[in-house]
Amino acid sequence: MTKTAQLEKIAEEIKKCKVCKVGKQGAAVPGEGNPDADVVFIGEAPGKKEAIEGRPFIGRSGQFLRSLIRSIGFDDEKDVYITSPVKYLPDRGTPTSEDIAHGRIHLMKQFAVIKPKVVMLLGRVAAEGVLEKKVKVASEHGQVIEERDGIKYFLTVHPAAALRFPNKYKPALEEDFKKLKQILSS
Ligand code: URA
Repeated sequence: MTKTAQLEKIAEEIKKCKVCKVGKQGAAVPGEGNPDADVVFIGEAPGKKEAIEGRPFIGRSGQFLRSLIRSIGFDDEKDVYITSPVKYLPDRGTPTSEDIAHGRIHLMKQFAVIKPKVVMLLGRVAAEGVLEKKVKVASEHGQVIEERDGIKYFLTVHPAAALRFPNKYKPALEEDFKKLKQILSS
């Protein structure tokens, strides 16, 4: 089976997953991008716009993320893969720790197919969902916080946080993208 077909199979599982839907609404947002991507971006959970269209990061913070991806020379639709630990819009906006823990099952299957070099963790929920550990984004971002099975896990700030607190986080996020570029070309 091709990687694209394998990712489609996982997307079908997500669409049928009853646990994923508990306390959530809208369309499934399994993720999208290049099945052979060197870098996978992991957010938090879909927002309202994403839950209508079934596509990740297409709202305001998504536009910002995509512009950062393009700023380091990648095509945001053709070169990278973008997804989240939580695949549906939570009714309360913020995912619970159960949502995050459950999302890991689907996420690990996606990683096993894509086999990226780097996973860019966009904030606390991404780090918790992927690595099952608590992180302090403000002090630990901008570095590889773990290396496991040949994948480097690089922590940065969620683009929504950088939009909300531009003075505090926007330069940090832009700087981290430059570091990401260096890691990928080393
Ligand atoms: N924020 C996320 O974390 N993921 C999306 O898909 C959109 C906004």
